[in-house]
Amino acid sequence: MTSVDLSEPAEQDAYRAEVRAWYDANATLNGPGNPWAIASHTEGDSARQFFNSNREWQTRLFDAGFMGIAWPEEYGGGGGEGWMARIEREISRDYSELTGFPGATTAMLGPALLRHASEDQKREYLPKLLSAELTFCQLFSEPGAGSDLASLATRAEIDGDEFVVTGQKVWNSAAQYCDWGFLLVRTDPDAPKHRGITFVLVDMSSPGIEVRPLVQMNRSAHFNEVFLSEVRIPMANMIGELNQGWAITRTVLANEAAFIGGVKVPCADNLIELARRHDRLTDPIVRQNLVQFLIRDRVTTWMGEQVQQAIRRGEMPPMDPGLLKLMATQNKVLSGNLAMELSGPAGLVNESEPARWSHHELMIRFAISIGGGTSEVLRNNIGERSLGLPREPGYDKNQPWRDIPR
Ligand SMILES: Cc1cc2nc3c(=O)[nH]c(=O)nc-3n(C[C@H](O)[C@H](O)[C@H](O)COP(=O)(O)OP(=O)(O)OC[C@H]3O[C@@H](n4cnc5c(N)ncnc54)[C@H](O)[C@@H]3O)c2cc1C
Repeated sequence: MTSVDLSEPAEQDAYRAEVRAWYDANATLNGPGNPWAIASHTEGDSARQFFNSNREWQTRLFDAGFMGIAWPEEYGGGGGEGWMARIEREISRDYSELTGFPGATTAMLGPALLRHASEDQKREYLPKLLSAELTFCQLFSEPGAGSDLASLATRAEIDGDEFVVTGQKVWNSAAQYCDWGFLLVRTDPDAPKHRGITFVLVDMSSPGIEVRPLVQMNRSAHFNEVFLSEVRIPMANMIGELNQGWAITRTVLANEAAFIGGVKVPCADNLIELARRHDRLTDPIVRQNLVQFLIRDRVTTWMGEQVQQAIRRGEMPPMDPGLLKLMATQNKVLSGNLAMELSGPAGLVNESEPARWSHHELMIRFAISIGGGTSEVLRNNIGERSLGLPREPGYDKNQPWRDIPR
């Protein structure tokens, strides 16, 4: 297994100082602030404002040369070294501005375009993705295709030099705010399910696209249903070859798992503070659980750095990124359970800020354990791809998609 390179030669100090100086001049240092604040937007306007502020921040980072630091210059990147991107990532965590959803899709879609898009497409889309001039949503899941994504049914017929697309997508995060989407369509119903899918980019303002926000139980509308009725998409927007979209999809999903698994939301200090407030700091079981959480959290950070180093170098990650996401999900379970245990029964009904933070910590694990691939499916993938276990029985893998019962 590749070792984690956390050393920092003296010549990197200058870059660290340069980045730190820019952030000091342009961003807000995380202050004592409010450690119990939770990022949840229940009102449409504030959610949109948050999205726009994330987007504007990404544009400022791009203008300062801090987006795509290690990407090729001809595609809007900085042409720099992987360590530069790592230093910038580390420093950015000390400041409160976020690139949020646009940053997440850049991390997910960007490396897939770098690997699979044509030269013209890379020059066209990558600078706009990095600068957030265009924001992209993921149009993958369907009512009948989530874990078994390859069974998707949104149909694209070819008419001249256009696709004509009809179908429905669901759970599409931020689709109500994004300018473009990356969309999976079925282009050959007679081929087995993985071999008849095409990956296309679509302008969300195209006639025939209707986005309906889905309101969740906390009143926020994180994701949407997206209906496509005879949407005409230029074939020039196709990434890779016709019917060969599955390989690109796998690249996106691996980047997504790596991104979700690598997101660092510091919460150890809050757990320790909760233990202090509830006079449990000397309780041996609480201490054991806290240490278990801290160790797993630190190991996940190092694993994340290994995966990110490889992605930045354009190499295959040294481990299945699903493992990283699985670890991050399990860490959320640990921290959520611990927060609720420390808060006690009063924490369940209490509306205080620490109690609301604990509720959020407990609940968020459901989102993180489903979005970007469920934990059960990730375990299957890790078993098959990394451990060489027998493949899950799949009666429909070689059958024409058209003949699979739905
Ligand atoms: C916060 C969030 C954001 C999301 N954002 C997007 C987005 O932007 N774009 C998008 O396209 N989608 C998005 N999704 C959808 C997400 O990708 C799907 O929810 C996910 O792939 C699971 O699919 P499903 O919901 O259809 O569940 P199903 O696939 O129906 O699964 C139901 C249950 O069965 C289990 N299961 C299924 N198959 C197996 C198996 N072979 N072995 C063992 N267990 C199995 C699953 O683990 C799960 O517990 C998002 C989801 C969430 C929660």
